[in-house]
Amino acid sequence: MNLLKDDFISTTTGKVSLKTILTSDQDYQLQYYFDEIQLAMLQLLSSLTTAVLNPTIAELKSYMKQGVSEKQFDEALIKINEEWFDADCFMQSKPPVGVKWPEAPITKMLSGIECGTSPNAIGLFSDIEKAKVICPDCVHGLNYNLHMNIKGECFGPTGATGIRGGGAISTLIAGESLKQTLLNNTISHDHFIEYAQLNTNANNEPMWISAQTGSIYRAQNIGLIRGLFALAYHIDFSIDNSPCRCDVCGSESHQSVYAFNREKYTGHYGSTKNGRDSGAGWWPHPYTPRTIKEDGVYAVCARDQSWQSWQELSSYIVGKETDKAMVEPAYIITQFQEMKNPRQTNLLVGGNIADQGSITGRVYDLYCMPSSLNMSLRKITQVIDAGLAQQECLSRAFNKMFGVGYDKKFVGGIKGEAMSRFSANAQQIIQLALLDVNRSEATVLRKSAVIELQQEAKRIFNGVQRKYQHDLPLFKALVKGEIALYKK
Ligand SMILES: [Zn+2]
Repeated sequence: MNLLKDDFISTTTGKVSLKTILTSDQDYQLQYYFDEIQLAMLQLLSSLTTAVLNPTIAELKSYMKQGVSEKQFDEALIKINEEWFDADCFMQSKPPVGVKWPEAPITKMLSGIECGTSPNAIGLFSDIEKAKVICPDCVHGLNYNLHMNIKGECFGPTGATGIRGGGAISTLIAGESLKQTLLNNTISHDHFIEYAQLNTNANNEPMWISAQTGSIYRAQNIGLIRGLFALAYHIDFSIDNSPCRCDVCGSESHQSVYAFNREKYTGHYGSTKNGRDSGAGWWPHPYTPRTIKEDGVYAVCARDQSWQSWQELSSYIVGKETDKAMVEPAYIITQFQEMKNPRQTNLLVGGNIADQGSITGRVYDLYCMPSSLNMSLRKITQVIDAGLAQQECLSRAFNKMFGVGYDKKFVGGIKGEAMSRFSANAQQIIQLALLDVNRSEATVLRKSAVIELQQEAKRIFNGVQRKYQHDLPLFKALVKGEIALYKK
């Protein structure tokens, strides 16, 4: 099986190949039961499209406009090393002789970030028994997801960290069809090399063809293809010749995968403290926004469970500068802005909320994007700023409660719960408001978002007031605080 040519991608109409998706006019829907695997597959398939088409920015523009013909695909295939993408070697390598090669159940790969002792690590399932066998085709999505998310403390305290670091946020440009989405997220090599400031002799072979060596993996030496499929573990999957129904895609298969073996790479990427301190530099993964601080560059990650992606949306699209750090959008966003693509698109923001190597939640949000990103950026940032301002007002309105002499933890708990309810409900309000981003004038858009956000803040605040109406000191503080809700 070859990942560029053969039918390994699960869709609602059965398994199809990357070539079929890219060269036919039919729209396909991916079919994977877990949205994190869906997100991983979008990135894996866009990265494979990058590998096979290997386009310059000019070529990519033409593919996005006119599509890819079968002939173009086949001609592109001849120019690359297609055997790198054979299923029996893709993103897999054997450890040096004599090292440990521990086996684990396949379930451990599903959460993407897995931790040996944490009860949360498998918290993505209601029932762990629902995911214990997969088909050989799904191995690649799971393996990719693991390598793009893994953080050192997963797989025990001395594990390896992947090229992006643990739990990084991904931003993708979703198109009107799967084909369009994959092309939107294909990377033009000429543009990327310049952006990433790679060395001219950076290695572009995948790591399963020429392994990483040395103790520090310098970002400038890692070429585009090498980085898109970067490894942190030697990994191998045991394929049984027994039939199964796959717990990830639902297909019947005559082979089954229950377990895998792995052993960590011993060097460090710039995504780790060791790597940063040695000047390795963070490899600018094209789907991840980055934070630039005085001591180095970091992948942008999701925060805690009360955090919602709308709060950072502006920085994912235009960036943000504070006195402590600068957040830059992912490369794919800047590439897309340059393309001036007139088609309808959405921004997909996804990732895991991770804590100590375990997963406590997931992010998978779609935002409607203006058809002209360059012209309408202000519209988006105004809506986000309105949300952040309202959140700040709500926070101040609750602060009067801290003055009544009650236990800080108790009062902080009331406020914390209400604040996270606001940021969760504002998520929907903002997503809905941005649906009108093409139709409404900036001022109208902002105004209606402001009204809805204020109503939501008021609803939540009044709910807390009602709950504590018989607790006189708290109630009085809340009455006093209410005015802050409306002060910008
Ligand atoms: Zn499967």
